[in-house]
Amino acid sequence: KSNEEALKDRRRVTGLLSVTEPSLLQFYVSRQWLNKFKTFAEPGPISNDNFLCSHGGVPPAKAAFMDDLVVMLPQNAWDHLYSRYGGGPAVNHLYVCHTCQTEIEKLEKRRRTELDMFVRLNKAFQEEESPLIIYCISMQWFREWEGFVKGKDNDPPGPIDNSKIAINKNGHLTLRQGADSGQISEETWNFLHSIHGGGPLVTVRPNVSHTNASHPELEASSQSKEKI
Ligand SMILES: [Zn+2]
Repeated sequence: KSNEEALKDRRRVTGLLSVTEPSLLQFYVSRQWLNKFKTFAEPGPISNDNFLCSHGGVPPAKAAFMDDLVVMLPQNAWDHLYSRYGGGPAVNHLYVCHTCQTEIEKLEKRRRTELDMFVRLNKAFQEEESPLIIYCISMQWFREWEGFVKGKDNDPPGPIDNSKIAINKNGHLTLRQGADSGQISEETWNFLHSIHGGGPLVTVRPNVSHTNASHPELEASSQSKEKI
């Protein structure tokens, strides 16, 4: 039966692993796959991809856990496993991927640049006494972006998506009542939009006659827009 066969095979590999005869090449194999091999009759092809990046190196984030992820095999054990199960790729040298490292550093720089610019533009917006126009931004998108620039999420957010905060009133897009949105300046919008794209543009014009409030109420302003 295949179970007995697999058992025999496991014993054989265990034997090969305990051979002390030194081999010229050492092969690194996924510990996860080797555990499958020890547990299941049909472990499937050797899958070393769980400790490799797409460039064939070690992803920088995994470099510290390499001992947990790989097992070093002598050449004859690898030869045996590879001829029986296929897969791979063969790995004789573990190195931290330079391409991935560069990409991580580039992303880190991008995060800092976007965050610094936003803080600067938003500070200017806070100091503006009576902005003529306020741009609205979906807080759902903004939180994703914030997670990215603060390094909580790895990937940049998709394009700005204001579709949930916008409502069409007499052919004009305006802020939906009760929408989960935030207020930013035209400069901040242009900055975020130039990088991330998306839309639609949702703006409100604060009622000029009520500028005694430092932050004009959005509902009032959208109503005032209706009057125009
Ligand atoms: Zn890489």
